[in-house]
Amino acid sequence: MRTIKRFIPLVVSIAVVVAVALVGLLESAHANARAQQIRRDDRVSEQATLAGLTNQFIQFALKDAYDFASVGPLSLQPGDPKDTALIEAYVKRSALLSYGGALVDLSGSPINAFVDGPGLPVATDPGYGPLRAALLAGKPGISTVMKTNGVPVLAMAVPVQRAGVARAIYIGYFRADRNPLETYNERLHYGKTGKAILLDATGTIIASTHRAEVGTLFGDPALRSRLESGQKGFTEYQDHGVRMVASYVPDGIGGLVSITTQTAAEFFGPIQSGGLHVALALIGLLVVAAAALFLMNHKRQMALAEAYEYKGQLLANTTHELKTPLTAIRGAAVTLGMRWRTMSAEQVDQFLGIIHRRCDGLSKLIERILLGARLEAGREVTLNAVPTDVLGSLRAITSEFKDVSPKHPVLLAAPEDVWVNADPEALDQILGLLLENAIKYSPEGGEVRVAAIDGPRSVAISVSDHGVGMNAEDREHIFEPYFRASRGNANGFGGVGLGLSIVRHLVERSGGAITVESTPGQGSTFTITLPRIVSPMEPSVSLEGADR
Ligand code: ADP
Repeated sequence: MRTIKRFIPLVVSIAVVVAVALVGLLESAHANARAQQIRRDDRVSEQATLAGLTNQFIQFALKDAYDFASVGPLSLQPGDPKDTALIEAYVKRSALLSYGGALVDLSGSPINAFVDGPGLPVATDPGYGPLRAALLAGKPGISTVMKTNGVPVLAMAVPVQRAGVARAIYIGYFRADRNPLETYNERLHYGKTGKAILLDATGTIIASTHRAEVGTLFGDPALRSRLESGQKGFTEYQDHGVRMVASYVPDGIGGLVSITTQTAAEFFGPIQSGGLHVALALIGLLVVAAAALFLMNHKRQMALAEAYEYKGQLLANTTHELKTPLTAIRGAAVTLGMRWRTMSAEQVDQFLGIIHRRCDGLSKLIERILLGARLEAGREVTLNAVPTDVLGSLRAITSEFKDVSPKHPVLLAAPEDVWVNADPEALDQILGLLLENAIKYSPEGGEVRVAAIDGPRSVAISVSDHGVGMNAEDREHIFEPYFRASRGNANGFGGVGLGLSIVRHLVERSGGAITVESTPGQGSTFTITLPRIVSPMEPSVSLEGADR
C-alpha cells in the first residue's frame, strides 16, 4: 500500500503530461484537418479559374464560327467550290476549329465540307445527337468525342442565319488530341502526379496532361456520376490501389468539366508531414518529460530513503547517549536506596557524586542538542563580543581538561598579550568541544596540543591530537549536524554528532573560520581563526552576523 502511495505523485504527474500531450495532439490533428480543408478549397477555386478560361476560349471559338457562318458570303449551294474555299480558309485560320468544317441543311444532309486530315465523322456518328439537341434548344452545340480513322474529333455547331432566320448549320471540327486546349492542359503541372483534364458530358477525356488519354473514358465511375450533378467540388477516390484526390468544376458550356487529379499523398504531403513532425515532437516531449519525472521521483525516493536511514541513525545515537547516563544514575540510586544504611559516609558521597556528575552530563547533552537545533534553524543566539585574552582563555580551558582526562597530556603554546574580539563563553564552548573531541578520538596517553599563532588581522588557535584521524570523505561532512564518521562509530566512541556543527556555527558567528587537517591513524588538527584586536582598550568591533 505504501509503495503504491509513493508512486501516486509520479503517476499523477505523468498523467498530467500525457493529458497535455494528448490535448496538443488533438489540437495538432484539428489544425491539420483545417489546413487540409483550406488546401481543398484553394484547389477548387483554382479549378474554377481554369473552368472559366476554358469556357471563354470555347465561347470565343463559337462566336468566331457564328460570325463566319452568318456574316460571310456563303452561297449554301451544295458543292459550291467557292463555299469550299471559304470553309478551307476559315478552318486554316481558326484557333480551335482547325480540323475541318461542314455545312449541312436543317435536316442534317451535307451541303459542303472541307477537312484537313483523314476525314470527317460519318453522318451516323452518335456525336451528332447532342449537337442537334443543343441547336433545337436554341444553344450552340458541342459534340462528344467522335472518331474518324482513329483520330478523336470534336464538333461545334452554330446556325447559319440569313435575315435572322436559320437556313443551314455550320459544323466546325477540331482534333481533341491536337489543339490549343490540349496544349494548355499538357503544360499545366501540379507536382509530380498532378494532371489537368477536360471531360465532356459523357466522362470522356477531351484534353489531358497526358495526351495518350485523350478520347478515353475517365477512370473513376463514381466521380463520373458525381459530375452529372453539374456541381463543383473535391473528392477522393482509389485508382489502382492509389489514393487520389480530384477537384472538379463544370465549364458551363457543352457539359464540359475541368478536373485536376493528384495522388492524395502528394496533395496533402506537406501538411501531413508537418502534422507528423508536430506529433513526433509531442511524443518526444512526452517521453522526455516522463523520463525526467521518473528520474526526479526516483531521486526523491532515494533522498527519502536516505533521510529515513539518517533519522534512524540519529535517533539511535541520541537515545544511546541519553540512556548511558540514565542507566548510571538509576544504578547509583538503586544501590543507595538498598544499601545506604550499611554504607560509610564516604561511600554514600561517592554514589551521590556519580548521580551528580551524570546529571550534569545529561543536562549538558540536552543543552547541546537544543543549541545545535537553534543554530541549525538559523535562530538567534546572543553573542557578546568583547576583547578576550587568548592566553588566559586557553590556560583556563586546558587546565580544566587536565582534570577531565588525566591520561591525556594537554600541552599549551601561546603568545602573551594577544587579544581577540569574541564572546568568552562561546570561545570556551568552542575550545571545550574541540578538546573533548581531541581526547575522545585519541588513545590513552595521546598528547593533545593547543597552540595560538598571532597574525596581522586574526589569531589562529589550533587543537591537535595523535588520535584516530579521519579520511577525506568524512572530513567533508564532519561539520554537518548529526554527522558521525564511520570510523568513530566503529570504534565505539560516544557522541551525537553535534559538537563540530556547533563549533562551526559559533566560530562563523564570531567572524572567524574553521579548518581541519587529518590523516587516518595519525591524528587531526582543527584550526579556528578569530578577529584580532591590538589591545583590550581598542573598542570592540561590531561583528557582522555575530549575533544572528
Ligand atoms: P561527535 O563527536 O559527537 O560524534 P562531532 O560533531 O564533535 O560529533 O564530530 C563529528 C565527527 O567528526 C565525529 O563523529 C568523528 O568521527 C569526527 N571527529 C571529530 N573530531 C575528531 C578528532 N579529533 N579526531 C578524529 N575524528 C574526529
